[in-house]
Amino acid sequence: MGDQPVPVSGTLIWYVAICRRQAWLMGHAIEPYRDHELLALGRLLQETAYQRQRRELSLPGMKVDLITPREGDALLVGEVKRSPRMQHAQRLQLGYYLLRLREAGVAARGELRYPEQRIVEPVELTPELESAVQAAVSEVESLLRLPVPPPAVPIPACANCAYYEFCWVDEPADGEAGSGQQRRSRRRDRREGGSEGA
Ligand code: SF4
Repeated sequence: MGDQPVPVSGTLIWYVAICRRQAWLMGHAIEPYRDHELLALGRLLQETAYQRQRRELSLPGMKVDLITPREGDALLVGEVKRSPRMQHAQRLQLGYYLLRLREAGVAARGELRYPEQRIVEPVELTPELESAVQAAVSEVESLLRLPVPPPAVPIPACANCAYYEFCWVDEPADGEAGSGQQRRSRRRDRREGGSEGA
């Protein structure tokens, strides 16, 4: 396990809104299963969608896609997502980027973009969103100071989580665990047969 937490980032703001344990694991650089199908799909989508419009901007704790603004418009920050299902976390993440940019003297507005559904959701840094972002930053900071991760609590997002096996699958003692491939198949079956995720 990583001993030193990584600094607060937009990604951690996203994770803390979904699962505090996931945020702790990420925040201590404990890598999830890299080939998890949804992580791979998300990377592919982020690399390929809106390619012609995109310019990447990296600052400590944030890596955002800047969409070329129309003349006279504020800078536009776009976050490309697979689905709006966890939009509360996506709004916090984007709000965090808008706040960081504003602190750096850059006026920007945001858009959540869902190319698979052809949906674009505008996001403004309202006072409500700003205080939710500030609260999430404080939560990440105090969470990462914990010496161990919070216990796993079953939530719908577990079915799609790259840490699923880390949290929920014991090694072969029960004779059911099987190979990684078998475990992933069982998880896929549960996902398709039941929970839709958070
Ligand atoms: S499997 Fe569930 S409890 Fe574990 S990190 Fe993922 S969402 Fe959180």
